[in-house]
Amino acid sequence: MAYKVFSCAICDKPEVDCKCDRYCTLCQSPFGVRLCEDGLFYCSDCREACDYSTQDQV
Ligand SMILES: [Zn+2]
Ligand SMILES: [Zn+2]
Repeated sequence: MAYKVFSCAICDKPEVDCKCDRYCTLCQSPFGVRLCEDGLFYCSDCREACDYSTQDQV
């Protein structure tokens, strides 16, 4: 199956079900964070800088 659901590294749930406090793993910003492939959250700036994709960009 090609489709892969990203899950939170902390609670092991998909982004929609994750109730963890969300902030960027790299810069600690709470704004615009999304779950990425490695199960960690990143803000839009860091995603762009590191070329990470969110679930719906895959
Ligand atoms: Zn979580
Ligand atoms: Zn960031």
